[in-house]
Amino acid sequence: RQATELRQAISEHHGVQPDQVFCANGSNEVLQCLFLAYGGPGRAALVFEPTYALHSHIARLTGTGVVRGERTAAFAVDGDLAKELLSASAAQLGEREPSITLLCSPNNPTGNSETRSTVEDLAGAVPGLLVVDEAYGQFSSWSAIDLVRGGDPAVAVVRTFSKTWAMAALRLGYLVTTSEVVKACSAVSLPYHLDAFKQQAGTLALRHEPEMRARVARLVEQRGRLLSALFDLSVEAWPSDANFVLFRVPGCTAGEVWQRLVDQSVLVRDVSGWPRLEGCLRVTVGTAEENGRFLEALGRVLRP
Ligand SMILES: *Cc1c(COP(=O)(O)O)cnc(C)c1O
Repeated sequence: RQATELRQAISEHHGVQPDQVFCANGSNEVLQCLFLAYGGPGRAALVFEPTYALHSHIARLTGTGVVRGERTAAFAVDGDLAKELLSASAAQLGEREPSITLLCSPNNPTGNSETRSTVEDLAGAVPGLLVVDEAYGQFSSWSAIDLVRGGDPAVAVVRTFSKTWAMAALRLGYLVTTSEVVKACSAVSLPYHLDAFKQQAGTLALRHEPEMRARVARLVEQRGRLLSALFDLSVEAWPSDANFVLFRVPGCTAGEVWQRLVDQSVLVRDVSGWPRLEGCLRVTVGTAEENGRFLEALGRVLRP
């Protein structure tokens, strides 16, 4: 019931104590537990748009208010602006001052990650918990788990087996934080919510860390190739710390580009409906062959 073996394995993987790890059915359920424990009616969560849409969706599902902060032109979070927003919302919202601040780093769908000093700064400024969603954490050069290890009581880091571990259908995610936050999340999760098969599979996966690291290295190499090819095609593309690249084709709507790629059997994500991402699409970094096919297809869209 306590997923003892799995939590032990995850704690060793990150150099923390087993009572600092909470596991659930995907990181989305981890987030839902955080909202059940620390959100709810009369409370609010702060998010920085554009970001992972499930954060504000789960907030709404749990009756938690949502305060939206803006990112800079490069889609980074500005620590000073965030602090102004926190004090403004405290004054305006009274008891609804954000009890949860969500930071997606590397950010989905823009791909950039926050610097350590921004995250440290925010952790010191938030009135409640700073939840750092590191679904793409292994692609980044640093992790906020360092801050948890250093004893910061405000930081909770969400991780998943769905991305770099290539086990999305397993539905397994976890939280690395203080034992107090783990207790609060356990209190709102259903008894026996994590099946035994999943616990075994997650524990076994962690023994294959070198393969996971090799996969990440291959993707990072391909990501560099993709970015420079997009640059050569004069497509606007943003630097990425994740396994996807945000891009925009000047003079075309995102819908046109999406359809003309689909017509050539290449599927990317149209993210143009998200705040501030007019005209943008997101391509996932694949194998060398897949990336080649994407670039050829995009070339034909640009020069029909
Ligand atoms: C994919 C993703 C998740 C969801 O992961 P699951 O563990 O499959 O629920 C969470 N956060 C971000 C930012 C993601 O991109």
